Amino acid sequence: MKKWNLIIDVATCHDCNDCFLACKDEYFENDFPPYSVAQPRHGHRWIDIMRKERGQYPKVDVSYLPVLCMHCDDAPCVKKSKDGAAYKKDDGIVLIDPEKAKGQKGIVDACPYGAIWWNEEKNVPQKCTFCVHLLEEGWKEPRCVQACPTGALRVIHAEDSEMQKIIKSENLEVYQPQYKTSPRVYYKNLYQYTKCFIAGGVALRDTDECAEGAKVTLIGVSNKTIDEVTTNNYGDFKIDNLEENSGRYSLEIAYPGYTKQTLSIELETSMNLGTIFL
Ligand code: SF4
Ligand code: SF4
Repeated sequence: MKKWNLIIDVATCHDCNDCFLACKDEYFENDFPPYSVAQPRHGHRWIDIMRKERGQYPKVDVSYLPVLCMHCDDAPCVKKSKDGAAYKKDDGIVLIDPEKAKGQKGIVDACPYGAIWWNEEKNVPQKCTFCVHLLEEGWKEPRCVQACPTGALRVIHAEDSEMQKIIKSENLEVYQPQYKTSPRVYYKNLYQYTKCFIAGGVALRDTDECAEGAKVTLIGVSNKTIDEVTTNNYGDFKIDNLEENSGRYSLEIAYPGYTKQTLSIELETSMNLGTIFL
């Protein structure tokens, strides 16, 4: 049976919040029985955009992480709810029945992703429904996906075996895998939000020129090469997708005709090494 999945490309999201606005437009003042009652005007962000700045000036970047209900296959909200108030449909979508869930505030705390919001006025927990009411009318995607101007959000309606192939071929990951909830929302380029980088520039002391084409090698424990990059025409380099607080590394910088330099680095978070002169 085909099931719904969502792919989010962190490298393509630019924080316009059009997805959030489309969601608000769809659900504010609108009930969609039996799936949802209206979202309040303020407070709820059924799709929320998290932000992370990395590095130090001038080697800085910013990434954005849209977070919403992950429609987990092993959902803590479903386990926590009473009378089947939170449930998973055969097509993969997790829903909260607004009638059965009345007064069940505990469902909000059950979600490790913080994707459930409490509607004080209606006395119900609420979250993304994957626009199930629209899919039933024949829509091919939820409002947030339709509204995204950069293509950062992409829906896949496929058999699980087909989805597994896509996950492998596109190198997709789930956010916070340690929660072990088997999400149906997958991320591309997640490292831009969850990992860190080492950046810097290489210059030649005798000529004061940028060292374009210098070889920069990051070496970890047991002398293992982690990555090797070449400086650009400004002499700049960036080695990304490194674990934060991952310990000690050596950074070797080699350029023809100059003595190789080796720096010792204790990596905690993204760092700008500044200009390294050979
Ligand atoms: S992300 Fe949270 S609300 Fe969504 S299915 Fe998983 S536990 Fe439930
Ligand atoms: S609409 Fe797309 S680009 Fe804009 S914030 Fe949402 S996911 Fe990011």
